[in-house]
Amino acid sequence: MRPAPMRVVSGIQPTGNLHLGNYLGAIRNWVRMQDEMEDGAQCLFFLADLHAISQPHDPAELKRGTLEMAAALVACGIDPNRSILFNQAQVPAHAELQWLLAGTARMGWLNRMTQWKDKAGKNREGQSVALFTYPVLQAADVLLYQASHVPVGEDQKQHLELARDIAQKFNNDFGETFTLPEPIVPPQAARIMSLRDGSAKMSKSDASDMARINLADDADLVMQKVKKAKTDPEPLPSEVAGLADRAEALNLVTIYAALANESADAVLARFGGQGFGAFKPALGELLVETLRPISTRFTELLDDREALDAILAKGAARAREIGRPTLDAAYAALGLIR
Ligand code: ADP
Repeated sequence: MRPAPMRVVSGIQPTGNLHLGNYLGAIRNWVRMQDEMEDGAQCLFFLADLHAISQPHDPAELKRGTLEMAAALVACGIDPNRSILFNQAQVPAHAELQWLLAGTARMGWLNRMTQWKDKAGKNREGQSVALFTYPVLQAADVLLYQASHVPVGEDQKQHLELARDIAQKFNNDFGETFTLPEPIVPPQAARIMSLRDGSAKMSKSDASDMARINLADDADLVMQKVKKAKTDPEPLPSEVAGLADRAEALNLVTIYAALANESADAVLARFGGQGFGAFKPALGELLVETLRPISTRFTELLDDREALDAILAKGAARAREIGRPTLDAAYAALGLIR
């Protein structure tokens, strides 16, 4: 028997004010995954807007963030004709299946989740119910589509295990319904640091806009930010080991390497011995070249709400269609008459 084609399901928080860290650390991985899929394999990428309400949030910001993330994903190379791109809220089956699975998930299982312990801290009583149960929604997110593979970083491994436990128990108790998804380790993503402080992550919440390169920044601003980036007076070494105590220099070399798809050592083999007077303009140019098509498409899409809505509606329609047989099977297995 030929193995069934791979079906990968992955979600991303719908945050706005997107920057180079989001691109190199998260979005580009999805684009790569999509581009490396074999024929017949499928990627479902969703914006986790239902997850966003598990913690205090601002509704207007959530809406803006969802649209921005959708625009960024398409601008960065997610092809809505090849991948299925949607937001959870347009596919009610996620929320429905979550409830159907809530009868199977055990309190003890959720209590053991380290994310819950970390996020709730000492104030468990004051947390939303959703913060406790969101791993069940995550299980629904992937089981709904009979995902064969789910990319998970270290912090999400435990939640995928939980999804498998829930699927296994449901299958045992009510009959074979769900595929147990396998984890795939996403390609190593770059961690991009602030341009003003090499020990802090580049983040949308940094008070200084000069600390980050935003996806919407124009070429002049990108150049200016790179030229003003904090560095030191030393020339670059010819191997990455020489950057051990030079966080800001290491960050700029890391960015160059990520954009050029090279190792940091390969970059330093070329730039070793040169100072930042030479390296910064080269980095700036590479950034501008890489980001120009992305920021053009990104701002175009953000200005065209109709196009963006159409992309998400089409993705959601396909997701609803793929999820329907599994949702129906889950209702039926539980003895629910519809
Ligand atoms: P921010 O830190 O700006 O608030 P988010 O927490 O919303 O960013 O992150 C959204 C996604 O982008 C996550 O997958 C996160 O790992 C990735 N990401 C954010 N900042 C960086 C960074 N500086 N380097 C690498 N990846 C990042």
